[in-house]
Amino acid sequence: MSNKWENNEEIQFFREYLRIPSVHPDVDYDPCLKFIKSQADNLNLPMKIYYPAHPKKPIAIITWTGIKPELPSIILNSHMDVVPVFEENWTHPPFSADIDSEGRIFARGSQDMKCVGMQYLAAIRALKKEGHKFKRTIHIVFVPDEEIGGKLGMCKFVHKDEFKALNAGFSFDEGVAGPDEIYPVFYAERSIWHVFFKISGTTGHGSLLHKNTAGEKLNYIMQKMFALRDHEVKRLENNPELTIGDVTTINLTQLKGGVQSNVVPPLFVACFDVRIAIDVDHIKFENQLKQWCEEAGGGIELEYEQKEVRVEPTKIDSSNKFWVAFKKTVDELGLKTRPQVFPGGTDSRYIREVGIPAIGFSPMNNTPILLHDHDEFLKADTYLNGIEIYKKLIPAVANLE
Ligand code: ZN
Repeated sequence: MSNKWENNEEIQFFREYLRIPSVHPDVDYDPCLKFIKSQADNLNLPMKIYYPAHPKKPIAIITWTGIKPELPSIILNSHMDVVPVFEENWTHPPFSADIDSEGRIFARGSQDMKCVGMQYLAAIRALKKEGHKFKRTIHIVFVPDEEIGGKLGMCKFVHKDEFKALNAGFSFDEGVAGPDEIYPVFYAERSIWHVFFKISGTTGHGSLLHKNTAGEKLNYIMQKMFALRDHEVKRLENNPELTIGDVTTINLTQLKGGVQSNVVPPLFVACFDVRIAIDVDHIKFENQLKQWCEEAGGGIELEYEQKEVRVEPTKIDSSNKFWVAFKKTVDELGLKTRPQVFPGGTDSRYIREVGIPAIGFSPMNNTPILLHDHDEFLKADTYLNGIEIYKKLIPAVANLE
């Protein structure tokens, strides 16, 4: 079956990248590197590979040097890895990049986020062909392992001399699709805390009424945590201005403990996945948790599997010239955008952490949100339209003085 998109060179490149199964676990990044090198050659631009943390975790960077290379550079970031698939739930094989009669391209990574990585390259290809040159150097960056937290990828890279040598001034990175005409734009992320309450108590026979049992203390902690959760649920429900990224989310994710049915156990462990809203004071929040542990009767240890520091949001006002240039461009294109806090985590948090402004934006509107879902797809027209958007956005930020 042939259709009007199949002969489009950019659609071909996109589908070629989608066919690389860079899927967790144990991703083999070599085919990605090979493909990205072929793209660099096609663009007649140099590519470098870095290994900031591990010999199997490469970062590939294609660089287009600016007329004023002393100016801080522009980073166009994307991750090469994709999340696992449950192939039996797909109507098209997840790594064949089938295109149907409506132009829907089915593949893992079609939305998250091989689309964006290839749209950067497609826009650069078009701009270069048109003879443009920009003041700032542009680095198109391909990173590993974002989907497993970026610990051996961007997380480490931002602290290396090789990253500092890029002299980055601003970064674009992923957003998510918008189901209606609005394009979500992300300027911040919440801080992820995975909190374990290790609750000790009096042990004994299940027929008695001991004092200070682990169960009573667990009950107290649960009440406090779920009251806080309820408070955030109501705050979100009662204010249409807020999105999920604006509130603190709290979920009980693990419960462990118990010995046998007639023994009052010495220990219960409760784990909560907490995503702390950007306006919450971390020290006050932790002190509150400690206070509840004391009020519950003591003997409770707090442990953290993950405890992210607060990262300053990227400014979305006149103090950030990159934001001003971004906003002016999308407004001129007539795109409806909505700035918000990203509900999950992306590599932008590491970039913001070292003081570089970062905007999360995937140019996909009127598109069902299918990242990490079965039958992930992106329409060819949406993809091509996104290239046109980057053809305006990249010059806007790369030509700033
Ligand atoms: Zn992603």
